Amino acid sequence: MKRKGILSLIISAALFISAFTFPVSAANNSVPYKDSITVEKIDFQNPGFIRGMDVSSVISLENAGVTFKNEAGETEDIFKILSDNGVNYIRVRVWNDPYDADGYGYGGGNSDLDKAKTIGSRAAAYGMKLLVDFHYSDFWADPSKQKAPKAWENMTVSQKQTAMYNYTFNSLNEIKAAGADIGMVQIGNETTSGIAGVTDFNDIYKLFKSGSQAVRAFDSSVLVAIHFTDPENTSTMKWYSDYLNQKQVDYDVFASSYYPYWHGSLENLTNVFNYVADTYGKYTMVAETSYAYTLDDTDGHGNTVSAWNNNTGDNLLWDFTPQGQADEVRAVMNAVNNVNNAKGLGVFYWEGAWITVGDITGKSGSAWTNQYNANKLLWEQYGCGWASSYAADFDPDDAGQYYGGSAVDNQAFFDANGVALPSLHVFKNVCTGSVNMTVLLGDSDGDGNVTISDVTEIQRLLAETVVFDDSQLLSSDVDLDCEITINDATEIQRFLAEYGTDYPINSNY
Ligand code: CA
Repeated sequence: MKRKGILSLIISAALFISAFTFPVSAANNSVPYKDSITVEKIDFQNPGFIRGMDVSSVISLENAGVTFKNEAGETEDIFKILSDNGVNYIRVRVWNDPYDADGYGYGGGNSDLDKAKTIGSRAAAYGMKLLVDFHYSDFWADPSKQKAPKAWENMTVSQKQTAMYNYTFNSLNEIKAAGADIGMVQIGNETTSGIAGVTDFNDIYKLFKSGSQAVRAFDSSVLVAIHFTDPENTSTMKWYSDYLNQKQVDYDVFASSYYPYWHGSLENLTNVFNYVADTYGKYTMVAETSYAYTLDDTDGHGNTVSAWNNNTGDNLLWDFTPQGQADEVRAVMNAVNNVNNAKGLGVFYWEGAWITVGDITGKSGSAWTNQYNANKLLWEQYGCGWASSYAADFDPDDAGQYYGGSAVDNQAFFDANGVALPSLHVFKNVCTGSVNMTVLLGDSDGDGNVTISDVTEIQRLLAETVVFDDSQLLSSDVDLDCEITINDATEIQRFLAEYGTDYPINSNY
């Protein structure tokens, strides 16, 4: 987050600079970003720590007419907005064939290979790598569902191994050819109870191996991830890593989902990851997390987290506000960064852009019904809800009954109009730290006035005879370049001597 545009002003304070130049330590004098949210810096063990986001539904939303805006309300490519805010990796799910016999999409973004190619290439255009999350199904694969793709339904395990290898290898080559920068591949999604219709652990590992071999053949530098859920079941999670080792599955990253309303404490998550990292030397990662910035719904389809659902619990430590949402992300990143020996690879936020296609906020009666019906038409036509009625073809008992819109529009980083929330800054601010406070610019000693003693205070900081707190650092950075240097003292002197200054010294900032 750039600071208020003042950075572009030309510094013309040569008058005093020459008299005071001496080296300063940037580390001791760097100023945290002033922001509308507060994020404590994380000292990452891993310099390339993944600050990722899954936006698999975004193409279907755009097709339905949704636009995304930066915080100033200007429409921009969402991948630019994410990159500008510090997101450095994009995750995308891939379903083999999420369409019925007549070509109608099942919904959930109709997340087929073509959408992954589009998302991957657009992410690469803004310097972001891609995690390809193969579900090896035609629709949602999670702990309760691991149904084989329609085309694989009657295959033996051995035939599925071949199909998985070929599908993985060919799909990755297509995604790469479209311009994506593939950095990691998931062999299955939340494969806690099976994969591609195979639920016997005497067979499951064979499919992990086939997928992994395909990734290695595609590009040996690409990371292979295996993804489980329910880290609160500590012994089960450890068992999975033992199992992968016993069966000699070739993988790099042991990934888990972490939803704080279900998945235990962050201390436990770190401990589970430490076991895998210490015992097997694997990287660990949170492949999915999210948190609500509000308990309100904006599309008429009930949300996973609401005023009557998943909104209380020992591990919901944060407010349902943009600040609380940022706090959750920061806390999960910190828990992964705490894994021993820099084996915490990163965190992906799940579906951080799955917003409404039409805002029901403030509507009631027929106005609400009309908006809801308009939304339903879009969900059906573009597949931009969690499931369409056509999904009954593949998933009659769940999607076929309860199809509809987004259950996570209140966990996005964009409001109902598509405008970026300040919580999105967390992806950058974890690297720098930020403070949410107002100070009197130039009042370095905090006595409420800008005087010559503030100049002295900055000189003492530069001589390393005092240490500043965040408030002092912020008030002393009068030239707003995020670092305290002699130029800040000079500018205050200019102000006091009434020589004129380009900066808003002696005003609230
Ligand atoms: Ca909703």
